[in-house]
Amino acid sequence: MTIELSDIKKQYVMGDTTVAALAGVTLSIGAGEFTAIMGPSGSGKSTLMNILGCLDRPTSGSYILDGQEVASLNDDDLAVTRNKKIGFVFQNFNLLPRLTAKQNVELPMVYAGVKIAERSERAAQALKMVGLDHRMHHLPNELSGGQRQRVAIARALVNDPTIIMADEPTGNLDTKSGYEIMGIFGNLNALGRTIILVTHEPDIAGYAKRVIHVRDGLIVKDEPGKGGSHV
Ligand code: ADP
Ligand code: ADP
Repeated sequence: MTIELSDIKKQYVMGDTTVAALAGVTLSIGAGEFTAIMGPSGSGKSTLMNILGCLDRPTSGSYILDGQEVASLNDDDLAVTRNKKIGFVFQNFNLLPRLTAKQNVELPMVYAGVKIAERSERAAQALKMVGLDHRMHHLPNELSGGQRQRVAIARALVNDPTIIMADEPTGNLDTKSGYEIMGIFGNLNALGRTIILVTHEPDIAGYAKRVIHVRDGLIVKDEPGKGGSHV
């Protein structure tokens, strides 16, 4: 599972103003990498993440995901590719408040048509993997921020994606919970998953093995990270 971006540009047109959110990004990410994308607010990190995650399409340039040119896929095929290959984790957890932890984790499998008994088993397994099996039947508002993010990670895992993408996953967490969440990403990476995360916190980026710095829609630095020396 490799990612190849070549001269990716993304423009937003608003009335007679055009914003160049990405101004020509060329980037390869190999299978099993743990990469952090850093940069100041407005530098294009979320736009880059949305394109990498097939949530949005570039204005121009080539994106080859796992040997397939994304521009050649129609919206339905793109959604299928996304659901099969990528798990998403967000800053605000995005859990449904009226569903228990386990029901939230089961949801992507409902959409994927997995049978009920298997859903239940896989959800329990994923929650165990993030150390939350004892909170399975709690509602999100009965869980701490760190626990909610663990549920979100379990949900991102259940369809067995090869890539996990996380946009500021520790942005709403205290320092200790943030480090715990990064420890989980480190473990998932050690198990072979590709991890790509956006953060503006150097401490958090320090968990990654590679740190890409973005500014004004361009990659300005691409360097090795500390690779989990905090863990
Ligand atoms: P970051 O995630 O680093 O804060 P973004 O990718 O969100 O950066 O934004 C990059 C630039 O593109 C900013 O100038 C932002 O205002 C602009 N932008 C992002 N999304 C949109 C959008 N949907 N419509 C218009 N402008 C946008
Ligand atoms: P962040 O920097 O954490 O990504 P932002 O507030 O910059 O948060 O952006 C949040 C979302 O709003 C982004 O996904 C982006 O697509 C959208 N967005 C950002 N800037 C604009 C804008 N000027 N106009 C419309 N949408 C925007």
